Amino acid sequence: MRTSRVGHSYVRVVLALDDGGPPLADRGWDSWVRLFVPRAVGDADAGSAPLVLPRGPATGWYARWRELPEDTRADVRNETVRAVRTDPATGACEVDLDLVVHTGPDGAVTGPAGRWATAVRPGDRAGLLEQGTIIDEALGLSRSAPLDAPLVLLADEAGVPAAESTARSLPAGSRALVVLEVPHADDARATCSAADVDVRWVVRAPGEASGAAALGHLRRLVEADPSLLPADARLVAVGETGAVAGARHFALSRGLQPGRVRACPYWLLDRPGKRRSAS
Ligand SMILES: Cc1cc2nc3c(=O)[nH]c(=O)nc-3n(C[C@H](O)[C@H](O)[C@H](O)COP(=O)(O)OP(=O)(O)OC[C@H]3O[C@@H](n4cnc5c(N)ncnc54)[C@H](O)[C@@H]3O)c2cc1C
Repeated sequence: MRTSRVGHSYVRVVLALDDGGPPLADRGWDSWVRLFVPRAVGDADAGSAPLVLPRGPATGWYARWRELPEDTRADVRNETVRAVRTDPATGACEVDLDLVVHTGPDGAVTGPAGRWATAVRPGDRAGLLEQGTIIDEALGLSRSAPLDAPLVLLADEAGVPAAESTARSLPAGSRALVVLEVPHADDARATCSAADVDVRWVVRAPGEASGAAALGHLRRLVEADPSLLPADARLVAVGETGAVAGARHFALSRGLQPGRVRACPYWLLDRPGKRRSAS
């Protein structure tokens, strides 16, 4: 286990799998996992506190996790797999996750995943449960057949890893416009893809609702150049629940077929000044 700060808002956590099982499959797209982190009693021991996991097969894990004592069982969050590296000789497998570190008005890190990511040390333990992908299956995307029409990806900071991984998974000959909204200019980074990918980073203004800046940016681009979002395009929006619904509505208003539009709600901003996670 090792971590590094990536830009202003992310901690990249590299987990070495040591359960003796098969390596994690490198599925690309928005491949995601359940991340189990120790229930911390305080920031100082957020990484090294005991890791209390549900035992047994993956099927039924949630019911068994619910039966564990609430004050000691691991916290669970959904996270995108940024990268998987498997050594073909040894089978040793490393998994990268990019976790947003959310902070409250006082600057303190809120949420178990963020507290864990900022406190974890080499040797500390976490649990991963592989889940699969959503975007490619919903939209019929392929890693070998180029897209027949442009793909537009819209994401806030929580959706950035999924949008980047989706862009990287596209084969040559595909075209994608990717609008990524982040809290800070330092969060922008390069995206590599064999496809023709145009990435636009948009920095959210303080106090602005999540997702509004990205959608506003897309609207302006499309007004100036309607060919960026033709009626046969696909659109994927990842992030805050209301924002991704707004993006879906915009896509449908431009004539996109519902089957080519995918809203992936990751978390819920239920009213200004009060946020809660949907995952
Ligand atoms: C399929 C899927 C994949 C995901 N992939 C990633 C990923 O790769 N990286 C990642 O960072 N997150 C990802 N998320 C979101 C993630 O599940 C958690 O919401 C996030 O890690 C916050 O966990 P936490 O324990 O730090 O904070 P929480 O306890 O969940 O929340 C703490 C505070 O932060 C607020 N908050 C939570 N999420 C956000 C947000 N996105 N923006 C602003 N405020 C927020 C909460 O409302 C709350 O006020 C994904 C979600 C899903 C459903």
